[in-house]
Amino acid sequence: MKKFNLSVLASITLLVSSFSAPSFAQQKFVTVGTGGVTGVYYAAGGAICRLVNKDRSKHGIRCSVESTGGSAFNINTIKAGELDFGFAQSDVGYNASKGLGAFKDGGAHADLRSVFSVHPEPFTVVARKEANIKSLADFKGKRFNVGNPGSGTRASMEELMEAMSWKMSDFSLASELKADEHGPALCDGKIDGFFYGVGHPSANIQDPTTSCGAKLVSLTGPVVDKLVADKPYYAKATIAGGLYPNNPQVTNTYGVLATVVVSSKTPAETVYQVTKAVFDNLDEFKKLHPALANLSSTNMMKDGLSAPLHEGAIRYYKEKGWLK
Ligand code: GLU
Repeated sequence: MKKFNLSVLASITLLVSSFSAPSFAQQKFVTVGTGGVTGVYYAAGGAICRLVNKDRSKHGIRCSVESTGGSAFNINTIKAGELDFGFAQSDVGYNASKGLGAFKDGGAHADLRSVFSVHPEPFTVVARKEANIKSLADFKGKRFNVGNPGSGTRASMEELMEAMSWKMSDFSLASELKADEHGPALCDGKIDGFFYGVGHPSANIQDPTTSCGAKLVSLTGPVVDKLVADKPYYAKATIAGGLYPNNPQVTNTYGVLATVVVSSKTPAETVYQVTKAVFDNLDEFKKLHPALANLSSTNMMKDGLSAPLHEGAIRYYKEKGWLK
């Protein structure tokens, strides 16, 4: 009799746990790798997660953002299976999927997949007001921040330096500060300038232009013309005059697009739901950060995507009739 009671108890316990366990087990946690907290990736990632989490009761996905070192870090961490989604500059995505540039040693990342592209990222050179800088070449022998290893900024800076036949030793100091640190370092007089691939407006360009009158410097000339002509992922770009304090002039430069990438191993249902959350709510998404204001679905589903589309994204685009 006692034995019977116990087994009834055991099966009740089993029943209870099988009722409560699935709701937790069915929660899917999705992490989006971004960049520094003062950049645009972090804000755009927050916008994606906000739209995904709004419909959590329907799909069970809990989306969160992670601040990271940037594009190359995100792609490498996705490859290692430790990150689900990541932001990456289109040039970095291109080189990763083909095993070129900074990804030469690791070989082609065959599992890299595109979901959609986002905002343009013009390469932005910022100089200390007192440094009397008119072009990037004026930084020779000066203290310049080339970006932290793992950032797309750094990868693009290295490609530009190679095209200019410059070495790190051409600067008196080539610092490797993260984007969150370059503004304060500039205003504290620790560096004379920095390079940054970022959407506009960006908080960490806003800060030094506001607090110490930092100047945006145009990035033009034959070297840039050749890079844009030779590389499929570069295009000429401008930063509007007056977007930042103390910079009424238009800044002419070149740049890339920000993209959202995953692994082919990321479940199709997850990628589908994230894609759906963004495009079903595109008007809201565009309002969540001014750098996202000009996006259009037609461009987002094709521009700047070097890696093949993920099957979950394809499912959504086909459902909308945007893909045959
Ligand atoms: N494009 C930058 C990078 O990959 C990050 C820009 C941002 O955080 O908005 O280094």
